[in-house]
Amino acid sequence: MANVVITGGSRGIGAAAVERFAARGDSVWFFYAQNESAARAIAEKTGATAIRCDVSDSTAVEAAFRQIPDVDILICNAGISVSGLINQLAEEDWDRLFDINVKGIYLCVKAAMPAFLRKHSGSIITVSSVWGQVGASCEAAYSATKGAVIALTKALAKELGPSGIRVNCVSPGVILTDMCACYDEETLNSLAEETPVGRNGTPMDIAKAMEYLSEAEFVTGHILTVDGGFAL
Ligand code: NAP
Repeated sequence: MANVVITGGSRGIGAAAVERFAARGDSVWFFYAQNESAARAIAEKTGATAIRCDVSDSTAVEAAFRQIPDVDILICNAGISVSGLINQLAEEDWDRLFDINVKGIYLCVKAAMPAFLRKHSGSIITVSSVWGQVGASCEAAYSATKGAVIALTKALAKELGPSGIRVNCVSPGVILTDMCACYDEETLNSLAEETPVGRNGTPMDIAKAMEYLSEAEFVTGHILTVDGGFAL
C-alpha cells in the first residue's frame, strides 16, 4: 500500500487517478485549487483526503506536504489551459500558465524530496500534453509549458535515478474533461474522427497509464503518449 499524492484531483484526469489508486488500496491525498464541492464529492466517493492547495504557491505546497506521511508516488497533474492568438495573450496569462503548469511541479517535487531521499525510492509522474510534443496553434503558451514539462521530466529522471527515484510523464491527447468544455460537439466529433482508434480519450485512459508508470520499476525518463494515435 503506497502513499500517493495527486495534484488537481478534484476533477477530470486527476479525479480518475484518485479513484484508480484508492481502488487498489493506496492511501491517497489530493490537491485542488478552489472547487470545494467537487473535491468533497471525490473524497467521499474514494476515501481519499482532499487538501486545498494552489500548487503555484510555495507556502501552501510546503504546508500541504507537512500534513502527509512520507510520499511514495507523486502525480503532478494540476494544470490549466489558456487559448488565443499569441498577440492577444495577456502577460498575466503567460505567467499564470507557467506558474501552475511548470513551477507547480518544481514546488511539489521539492517538497516531496525529503521523503523520497529518506527511503531512497519514489515515483514521480508528470502530466504533459501532445501539444507539448507537436505544438498547437492558438495554444502557444500552453504548448510551451507542456514542452517544459517533458524537458523537466527527463532532466529529473537523470538527476534522481541514482537516488532510487523514477520520473516519468504521461502525455495525453484529447481527453473528455472540463478542459475540453470550450469545444462544441461538432469539434469533438471531428477530433474523434481524426483519432486512429476512433474516439476521444477518457480520464480513466490516463489514470491507467499513470498506474502502469507507477509500477514499471525499470522505466524512467519516459514520455508515454496516451492519445489513441491522434498525434501520429
Ligand atoms: P480539469 O478537468 O480542468 O481539472 C483541473 C484540475 O487541476 C482540477 O482538479 C483543478 O482544481 C486543479 N487545479 C487547477 N489549477 C490548480 C492549482 N493552481 N493548484 C492546484 N490544483 C489546481 O483538467 P484535466 O483535463 O483533468 O487536466 C489535467 C492535466 O492533464 C492538466 O495538466 C492538463 O494540462 C493535462 N491535459 C489534459 C488534456 C485534456 O484533453 N483534458 C490533454 C492533455 C493534457 P479545481 O477543481 O479546484 O479547479
